[in-house]
Amino acid sequence: MSERYELLVVGAGPGGYVSAIRAKQLGINVAIVERRSTLGGVCLNEGCIPSKALLDSSEHFATARDKFAIHGIEIDSPRINLQVMLSRKNEVVRRLTDGVAYLLKKHKIPVIKGEARLLGMGSDGDHRTEIVSEAAVDAVDAVVSKRVLLATGSEPVSLPCIPFDGEFVVGAREALDFDKVPEHLVVAGAGFIGLELGSVWRRLGARVTVLEMLPAILPTMDRQAADLLQRTLKKQGMEFRLGARITGLEKNGGKGRVTYQVGEDNFAVECDRLLVSIGRRPLISGTGFTELGGVVSESGRISVDENYQTSIAGIYAIGDLVPGPMLAHKASEEGIVCVERMTGKTVAVDYTCLPGVVYTWPEGASTGKTEEQLKSENIPYKSGKSNFIGNGRARAMEETDGFVKILADAQTDRILGVHIVGPRASDLIGEAVTAMCLKATARDIGMQFHAHPTLGEAMKEAALDVNNEAIHG
Ligand code: FAD
Repeated sequence: MSERYELLVVGAGPGGYVSAIRAKQLGINVAIVERRSTLGGVCLNEGCIPSKALLDSSEHFATARDKFAIHGIEIDSPRINLQVMLSRKNEVVRRLTDGVAYLLKKHKIPVIKGEARLLGMGSDGDHRTEIVSEAAVDAVDAVVSKRVLLATGSEPVSLPCIPFDGEFVVGAREALDFDKVPEHLVVAGAGFIGLELGSVWRRLGARVTVLEMLPAILPTMDRQAADLLQRTLKKQGMEFRLGARITGLEKNGGKGRVTYQVGEDNFAVECDRLLVSIGRRPLISGTGFTELGGVVSESGRISVDENYQTSIAGIYAIGDLVPGPMLAHKASEEGIVCVERMTGKTVAVDYTCLPGVVYTWPEGASTGKTEEQLKSENIPYKSGKSNFIGNGRARAMEETDGFVKILADAQTDRILGVHIVGPRASDLIGEAVTAMCLKATARDIGMQFHAHPTLGEAMKEAALDVNNEAIHG
């Protein structure tokens, strides 16, 4: 039997590796187990990071092709070297996954390679976790630990009628590695992942059609923001069929015909790739959690209390496994709070200001409540808006699509939600998150310096507009 740990973290994604480092900082004797050959989880290997690497590369290409001339830069039509683009993306991933390995080494946290499966608690009150590994050198019978933190993340959900085949019908992982630009990419699902990867391949020259079962894209986003984003993406050439239920796929060589229904009417669309991005499900099977009687809610997530403890004493869960949006920064914060609470600290994750970003161009970013939520919850609010068309920096950049919208409590002026569509919305939302977490009012933001000329001035103007005090609106 190997060394006994106070904590074994299962999964080295942004939830798991961050938890392990924080645990070590707090003096907890911790080890981490990961079944992939590289660390960083879905986020670093096949999610957040490679998608942003390709979004940045493809945006450079689209800018050179479509926008340089506006700035008075004349070039011959740029060409794509897809192999170089993909290699750069892989190199970005390699450096960051190596970085996680370095951090764990620096903190002297043992990394056990293999697949972990909970075996249950022994008579001594410690948990046993079996590690299955192909590499004999890494093979360990069972790790003994006082506590186990599950951070095994999630996997993509397939269409009920069309299974993944890794070639034609693919998930995000394969869509980050197409060896050539598809002629026509059909994307099933108009969520964050579908719109981002659809944007990548559209910019690189593919025709992209998005089929969405719901009547609108990005269902959790503020409607005004999502609608503007859809109009802008449509202007760029992305095609949308909303209310479309996919019914089947007929394959013929390298081509396919996706059939779908809108209401009672049947339609079909020819394509050479089908990206299915209709959602992800928590990766619980294989961990032994349900076999030990652990409670999973109807929505398929592991139920946890305020300490992130599951229904099994000593077993904790965070990140994509537990309720809430599947986001890397949520997983990390939950991991930190979970291990801090193990040491008696009374911290908590403030979900009221959890930001969400879609990295299309323009980007969409939001935090707090949407107008639709405020209305349905009967919360009286006031709204302020600033369009980027009136922002000096956005004008200088030739990036004037979009707005900042701030929603504040009608009585107290406290900020309840911020919704941004526009250039670098992903960076701008940081100010809103900080303000909301510090319980700031709209007037607090309106009274702060915002360097001129910056995109951030749109935040100040929107804040001033909440109380009808906008200067440039
Ligand atoms: P994961 O990152 O999924 O890590 C879980 C790890 O556990 C994996 O490495 C897995 O191999 C390992 N594991 C699983 N089972 C076992 C086992 N039994 N034993 C040992 N190891 C195991 N989020 C954002 O916030 N921003 C974004 O821009 C963003 N973009 C995304 C783009 C794409 C294409 C995708 C697919 C996702 C994106 N996400 C984004 C979501 C984000 O990747 C996840 O929310 C995040 O990775 C969840 O972190 P986690 O630690 O819970 O799990």
